[in-house]
Amino acid sequence: MTILAVRLVGDPVLRTPADAVTRFDDTLAKLAADMHETMEEVAGVGLAGPQVGVSLRVFTYHVGEERGTVCNPVVEVLGGELDHGSEGCLSVPGLGFPLDRPARVRVTGQDITGAPLVLEGEGLLARCFQHETDHLGGTLYIDKLAGEERKRAWRAIREEGFEANAQSVLQDRAGAVGSAFGGASFGGSAFSQGWAK
Ligand code: ZN
Repeated sequence: MTILAVRLVGDPVLRTPADAVTRFDDTLAKLAADMHETMEEVAGVGLAGPQVGVSLRVFTYHVGEERGTVCNPVVEVLGGELDHGSEGCLSVPGLGFPLDRPARVRVTGQDITGAPLVLEGEGLLARCFQHETDHLGGTLYIDKLAGEERKRAWRAIREEGFEANAQSVLQDRAGAVGSAFGGASFGGSAFSQGWAK
């Protein structure tokens, strides 16, 4: 398996709506395996195809005991409750912001063999499903922030040195796998106040 480079905000692939997965072949299986390895390496809880430069509607996730790969996901909101958590993104490393999301969702799609898949999640898992599916449409979570937080996010991204800092954050995370992101430990650095996908 291969660790893939994580694309950062500003890369056009993150803004391009991804294509549907139509070939459930060995190439897709290898991509999914590499995405899982990459996600674990940088201690993320989710990773979408465009984040590794592949404009296909596929994402991987690993939230607590739940892990897997979803192709061609469609998210349906269940109920009206909101989850008031914080969020981060491996493509916008070093930042985290509070963002309300629907607390429960159902995802329908396909697994890597093309078989139909239906998943339900709540809390972090629901947040992850929404965040990753947003990536496949070219949307980043920072697009969903409002007011001052949105301004703060973009100011930070435009600051000189953001990219160099982002790379070092990813490297630090890669060095901290297995300790810094054990599922419950979201405290600590600005980045891990939320979680990263
Ligand atoms: Zn993300």
